[in-house]
Amino acid sequence: MKGDTRVHKQEFLNRWLEIIKKSSAVLIYKQDFVGRLLTAVRNCATRHTYDPAWTRALVEVVMETETGPGGSDLEVDLRSVAARMIKYYWNQTIFFNLAQGANPCRQPDLIRRVRELICEYFESRRSREPVRFENANFNPPLRKKLEEHFDAAGEILKNDVVHSFLGKGRLHGEFINHTRGEDSLLLPQNAAAAIRENSALITEAIYYRWAQILEKYNSSPRLNRKVRIIDTPELRDRPLSYFAKYLDLENPGRQCFLCGQPVEDQDLVISHVIPWSYLCSDDIWNLVYTHKDCHFSKSGPFPSEFFIARLEKRNKALLAKLAGYAETDMVAGMLQEAVSRNLVRKNWICCQ
Ligand SMILES: [Zn+2]
Repeated sequence: MKGDTRVHKQEFLNRWLEIIKKSSAVLIYKQDFVGRLLTAVRNCATRHTYDPAWTRALVEVVMETETGPGGSDLEVDLRSVAARMIKYYWNQTIFFNLAQGANPCRQPDLIRRVRELICEYFESRRSREPVRFENANFNPPLRKKLEEHFDAAGEILKNDVVHSFLGKGRLHGEFINHTRGEDSLLLPQNAAAAIRENSALITEAIYYRWAQILEKYNSSPRLNRKVRIIDTPELRDRPLSYFAKYLDLENPGRQCFLCGQPVEDQDLVISHVIPWSYLCSDDIWNLVYTHKDCHFSKSGPFPSEFFIARLEKRNKALLAKLAGYAETDMVAGMLQEAVSRNLVRKNWICCQ
């Protein structure tokens, strides 16, 4: 009897050790995989932004694919990854017109395709109002073009981009399985799990790297924020109407900044003088009342020196009204900072 119990104990111990070994092996594998992935992101190609774009898309695809416990390896179709890249590039281009490649005169193929598509989209809609890819309404000819762009992006991924990226993190084989030219890649179950468990960290690293690369070819501010338009449908901290109480202090009669005429409530909008697409932020020193039809930023005229001088004068007058509040009111403080640092003119010069 005693002997039997000992055998049972030994068996139990062996099984237990087996489980511990297995789970620590999985843990080590996952850590290793994430480390290599982050290394590849850090060392990715910088002549274009295909690497951050496709890896961000990969994370998105993995997050959308459910696998239960004991699930199998994940086959990722590169065309579906490519379609997401087009979506990201569309949003970053239509709102911020970011350059995604080193040569301003010859942007990467996918960017040229997206820019062309946006032009054709504006024509088809007879409006230059920027719209997110997710909400865009493509007519059949444009839909067909879009499918061609997805194909082209898929080809670029499978023939070139994926292979060289995997090499940068020594990810080939047991971590991510892809042979150059193949339509899909295979993500082992534990690698997919590691992406899911660390998606926030991986995404942060990708955005950081993406913004860093964009800094090489874009001089506009807040690139880090612009990159994240992928995740943030609303880039505003607060509605523009928040600024009305400040504008009213200096312009109680609500005269249009552009034409000088008083504006009826139903025609009143708060406009950015220097385009929002450049600053990616709403700042009191750049906001004015205009008629709906006298709008600056969306498709209106680029502000001339005349309006810049007018804005500087307005800011000084508004600051005089807010004198004494700079320390207690954040908007007043930012206005004072903008006036003393000459931000209107500096940004106007840079954004041309
Ligand atoms: Zn007007």
